[in-house]
Amino acid sequence: MSIANGREFLAIPGPTNIPDAVLAAMQRPAVDIYTGPLVRLTDSLLADLARIFATEGQTYIYAANGHGAWEAALTNVLSRGDKVLVLESGRFAIGWGEAAKMLGCEVEILPGDFRRAVRPEAVEARLRADSKSEIKAILVAQIDTASGVINDIEAIGQAVRASGHEALLMVDTVASLGCVPFAMDRWGVDVAMAGSQKGLMTPPGLGFTAAGPRAKAAHKKANMRTPYWDWTFRDGPVHYHKYCGTPPEHLLFGLRAALDMIFAEGLDRVFARHRLLAEATRRAIAVWAEGGHLDFNVENPAERCNTVTAVVTRSGESAQPLVDYCRDKCGVVLGRALGWSEGKGFRIAHMGHVNAPMVLGTLGTVEIGLSALGLPHGKGGTAAAIEFLAQSVPV
Ligand SMILES: *Cc1c(COP(=O)(O)O)cnc(C)c1O
Repeated sequence: MSIANGREFLAIPGPTNIPDAVLAAMQRPAVDIYTGPLVRLTDSLLADLARIFATEGQTYIYAANGHGAWEAALTNVLSRGDKVLVLESGRFAIGWGEAAKMLGCEVEILPGDFRRAVRPEAVEARLRADSKSEIKAILVAQIDTASGVINDIEAIGQAVRASGHEALLMVDTVASLGCVPFAMDRWGVDVAMAGSQKGLMTPPGLGFTAAGPRAKAAHKKANMRTPYWDWTFRDGPVHYHKYCGTPPEHLLFGLRAALDMIFAEGLDRVFARHRLLAEATRRAIAVWAEGGHLDFNVENPAERCNTVTAVVTRSGESAQPLVDYCRDKCGVVLGRALGWSEGKGFRIAHMGHVNAPMVLGTLGTVEIGLSALGLPHGKGGTAAAIEFLAQSVPV
């Protein structure tokens, strides 16, 4: 017996659902890579990415995933032997730090917690203690997709400035850009990076970096630069150089359609939609958690992000039967738990191209699974989500 049919619904935090308009924009022949429309397309994308990062700085597009954009960010501003400070709050900043280490940086982790956000005061204290200014860069994820934490980048930026330290602030926005507010210049961020396949609703395969003036100055002295990632090469006037080779044209057409959708809806409305659908998800989970079996990974409600919610089992029991049931019987793919909670939880993404039926359908499916498997849970989680949306979305 199964009630799965038709398109499988992805509730994983990347790749996310791709809008039909984005798929349709990619369904076309290849075009010339040297002239006319493609050159103008690149100019429009670079400008609109800067708008989404909220920066006057320079943006770059790579044929790469998020890991590639990590490497782009690091190699453009650092030199071998430089020390970087990684702000732990889950898995992803740690992963970025591992890349830095392999490239030849000395990596120090400011210890955090898989269930908590980075504490800005701890960042300030660590920087003040670095009297010889050995730390050259600080790596942090705005949203950690494994833990479901949102870090307060504005407060971290203030902490960096308050310490008087010169280290570059480098932020991973892969799971947050285009979903929650980000203000690169205003928050004092020197380098930001992202990818195409999460909030930006485009197939995987594009990585982005944005560089502010302090990052561009550090770039001049950096000795880790490599031909493919190098900003200077891409800054020139030649279109072919902007991608260090053949542009990933079809992904660019898709990204154009996705950005058009985001701007047509309006960034503020996109953020509000994410906030509402995330809160609806949290309302459901809070009710289920009353059964004593499930819990939020992130302990402090204010630190739960609006793009993905990580759920853990209190006993450490595997959530795999529930994940399997939702996929095999109902056609909904939940995210696996990562890092500290690996194997003992699941994640529900509410990121990018999402609306009420997608999120309520996912919540309803989880609730079917909880009941069918006889897992202890408070009854009426989906109903609580519905009630929250009814109260929050005026006529
Ligand atoms: C998904 C993700 C990445 C890695 O992106 P890939 O495209 O899988 O390489 C990095 N950071 C964060 C916060 C992510 O969510």
